Amino acid sequence: MAEKKKKIVKQIIINADECNGCRACEAICSGYHSTDKFSIINPGRSRIFVHWDPYRNLFVPVLGGPQAPAECLARNKYIIDGKEYDECLFCGAVDCPSRELFQDPDSKLPLKCDSCESEPPLEEPMCVQVCINDALTYEEREEEVEEEREWDELDMGLEHLIKTFGPDKVLETFERLVKKEQTP
Ligand code: SF4
Ligand code: SF4
Repeated sequence: MAEKKKKIVKQIIINADECNGCRACEAICSGYHSTDKFSIINPGRSRIFVHWDPYRNLFVPVLGGPQAPAECLARNKYIIDGKEYDECLFCGAVDCPSRELFQDPDSKLPLKCDSCESEPPLEEPMCVQVCINDALTYEEREEEVEEEREWDELDMGLEHLIKTFGPDKVLETFERLVKKEQTP
């Protein structure tokens, strides 16, 4: 049986009705996660994506979330404030085979929101700080949760590389890099 433990739950609350599609969140997220912070702004590398339906003036920000083990078959519709949304729109799966969302355009590594974890911690994640419309707000609270194994970024990244390039290629590259690291 899974154990219960107290945990600080960090949550970004999305209010799509307030979003005007400015995409400042995408820009700041990609900049904040570039290797030298803010050296590259490339929304294609963002861990938040703002869906846009120009015909209905509809913007839906979605955060990159957990891995999808396989393409799901759910195609439900949601009606919110008279607007119709596809279930897919709310999904943050980082490696859904039916689309190329939340994948680094070059390495194909998954781009999962990490709440801008840093040391020292930020008061609020970057995307929340730049969203002047309050479409994104931030909440931290203590909750009792069941302890379960979660995919960490390393597991996710490795699994994705194996899927993309095959285990032999990944192993060969890994061995070469380790050898290089050990060579004085
Ligand atoms: S910064 Fe806020 S208003 Fe602008 S696109 Fe992102 S969520 Fe929408
Ligand atoms: S919380 Fe940080 S990592 Fe997550 S989408 Fe916002 S800026 Fe990107």
